[in-house]
Amino acid sequence: MTGGAKVTVAGAGALGLCTALALADSGCRVEVADPDPRANASAVAAGMLAPVFEAVLDPEVAPAFDLLIAARDLWPGLEARAGVRLDRSGAMAVGDETWLAGVQASLVRLGLHGIDLPRRTAGDLAPGLAPDARHALLVREDWRLEPRQALAALRASAEAAGVAFRGEAVRDLGGADWLVVATGAGQALADLAPEIAMLAPIKGQILRYSEVRRAGVSVRGDGVYATPSSEGLAIGATMEPGASDSAPDRKALQPLVTRAAALFPALAGAKFAVSAGVRAATADALPLVGLSANAKVILAVGARRNGWLLAPLVAQVVAACVSGRDAGMAARRFDPARFAEGFG
Ligand SMILES: Cc1cc2nc3c(=O)[nH]c(=O)nc-3n(C[C@H](O)[C@H](O)[C@H](O)COP(=O)(O)OP(=O)(O)OC[C@H]3O[C@@H](n4cnc5c(N)ncnc54)[C@H](O)[C@@H]3O)c2cc1C
Repeated sequence: MTGGAKVTVAGAGALGLCTALALADSGCRVEVADPDPRANASAVAAGMLAPVFEAVLDPEVAPAFDLLIAARDLWPGLEARAGVRLDRSGAMAVGDETWLAGVQASLVRLGLHGIDLPRRTAGDLAPGLAPDARHALLVREDWRLEPRQALAALRASAEAAGVAFRGEAVRDLGGADWLVVATGAGQALADLAPEIAMLAPIKGQILRYSEVRRAGVSVRGDGVYATPSSEGLAIGATMEPGASDSAPDRKALQPLVTRAAALFPALAGAKFAVSAGVRAATADALPLVGLSANAKVILAVGARRNGWLLAPLVAQVVAACVSGRDAGMAARRFDPARFAEGFG
């Protein structure tokens, strides 16, 4: 590809890769640089594309439900374009009657209605579910992907579209027309993109029970979720605001281990592996996407616990920014300038 803007993308996580592909598809000459993409938050994540249960269970993102749905609706395009495999079987909330009544009330406020499942059907959809889990609500709107498969597929498609990859940290703009900062919770580029200093880290630990293989829907409980995958059943995830290390911490994990065994009794005493990643969060739980106060720098960071879900929408906004097009409502709500007073 010749002639398009020359763009360097710093970071090869979900946001960086989706953005690189969107930029290449819009005619830019793109290079992605990342010193170590193997253990980033994107690789660690559960891979839920869950606009509904995220809006229902996380009051901070509920006001962004429309954007979460818009982002999810871009994933079938990436399934076709890049071979990212989507599982659309849905997700099921499981808990006691009072908790589920609250979930149903929140669903109704979003204009939805969870399907009330008989116990036997719930057990068929989530084999191994505790016999005392007598109440369940199913929604079909929440999907999921497998992060490692998705990262590999996105990278392969980007390479096929002419994107170059470099295994190094970005330190400056180099000779690029634009630098897209998609460095997750990393702060190394704060001199170039002062806005990233406002990102707060939230460590997340997730358990993978590689010996527990089952198909079926994702399960959401009170303070715990379970997602089946080809790497085993994933149980997530801790939310540890202020922590920015990715070391396993068994003490912080204990409540998760207990809740997991309450949902799926076979997990009691079963072996699991722990991985941890750091999410980057803003004060309003929406990402920072768009022009930095620093000319030629574009931000694509701060997607908190929904980076996979939001990645294609972030990519669309960045591509519009580079080409000078109006990216609509999402661009206005993600605009880094909404916090501009902090950088005056
Ligand atoms: C336990 C856990 C579970 C999660 N589950 C889900 C989920 O189910 N669904 C969902 O949507 N989201 C989930 N998330 C959130 C999601 O993982 C993140 O929001 C998303 O991965 C952020 O992607 P990113 O590309 O911004 O950052 P990252 O994936 O962290 O990638 C940033 C990259 O930037 C690179 N980098 C840093 N500095 C530089 C530099 N100077 N130059 C070049 N490269 C640099 C790093 O090496 C890294 O590879 C989860 C997160 C965690 C921790």
